[in-house]
Amino acid sequence: MKKILTIIGARPQFIKASVVSRAIQETDELTEVLVHTGQHFDANMSDVFFNQLGIPRPHYQLDIHGGSHGDMTGRMLIEIEKVLLKEKADWVLVYGDTNSTLAGALAAAKLHIPVAHVEAGLRSFNIRMPEEINRILTDQISRILFCPTDSAVTNLYNEGFASKLAEIQQVGDVMQDSAMFFAKQAAQPKDFNVADGFILTTLHRAENTDNPERLAAIIEALNHLHKNTAPVVLPLHPRTRNVIAKQGLSLDVQVIDPVGYLEMIWLLQHAGLVLTDSGGVQKEAFFFNKACVTMRDQTEWVELIEAGANELVGADTQAIINAAGKKLGRVVEDENSLYGGGVAAKRIVEQLKLIEI
Ligand code: UDP
Repeated sequence: MKKILTIIGARPQFIKASVVSRAIQETDELTEVLVHTGQHFDANMSDVFFNQLGIPRPHYQLDIHGGSHGDMTGRMLIEIEKVLLKEKADWVLVYGDTNSTLAGALAAAKLHIPVAHVEAGLRSFNIRMPEEINRILTDQISRILFCPTDSAVTNLYNEGFASKLAEIQQVGDVMQDSAMFFAKQAAQPKDFNVADGFILTTLHRAENTDNPERLAAIIEALNHLHKNTAPVVLPLHPRTRNVIAKQGLSLDVQVIDPVGYLEMIWLLQHAGLVLTDSGGVQKEAFFFNKACVTMRDQTEWVELIEAGANELVGADTQAIINAAGKKLGRVVEDENSLYGGGVAAKRIVEQLKLIEI
């Protein structure tokens, strides 16, 4: 039996790993050891996902969070290496683009343990984003690159991956598997009583939260939309909450605590528009047939822009207001099954079983 050692640490990784873990449990050819780095640790940023999504309890809790990027990544590298030396896994499985992804991949590659990267090949072409640095480096040292989209495969070929040892597989997007699997279990958030058709917003990207002008411009737009267009519902990321408090900005929208995934699905199903700077939420809007307006200058999910389902508006107050007003209530359809239709986890597990290193 092959041993898969999975490294996760941040909210979107819990969601992605839940569907792959389930598929691993359904086969008797693989066994999984789960390592939680601790990058996200609040009850509503971590525990709730383990409870709701049936993710097995992690075998290792490294409890590493806070500090600068280098500090956090360095501490993770040290602790993950110890686990890898002990567990002697056949594969290390990492997800997405966080510091946990890079630390896990780097620790494994240095020990010559093959790395499988889920969500490989995505690029924003903005090298100032910490996520872009993490994903480029992780792809470079991975042996299987599980790409969610055709454009991700093209990005890798453009970077010369065809001549490298890595195996490139277009498997579709595990987040679609997850959205489809949990759609029927959607749960209305406690004490939530905003009528359908609200603007569901998330805001946490460093490029917005760590830039006072961008943050102020976005908040001005949200306040305007809430007052004049439709209620803005904002499950507020703890990092953003801290920055807003520090800068003394006044946020006049319906702020709620971060919600669990089942509540997030409910909000997506009942929203009239999604306004976000998240990576994952852009696609989830699409999975639930909602138009999306993205408060970033680039996106890794270019096919949504091409399909007209998503629009990039940066942090320009007027552009956000105009796009949101125009797109509110619009229904979008997934005519070309852009993200694989919900079979990504199965494909990933098949490959992990098949490929011998
Ligand atoms: N999410 C959630 N509760 C919230 C906000 C987001 O469950 O209050 C989910 C969301 O549905 C998506 C994932 O978290 O599946 C996205 O994570 P995030 O936006 O933090 O990261 P990104 O996708 O930008 O890496």
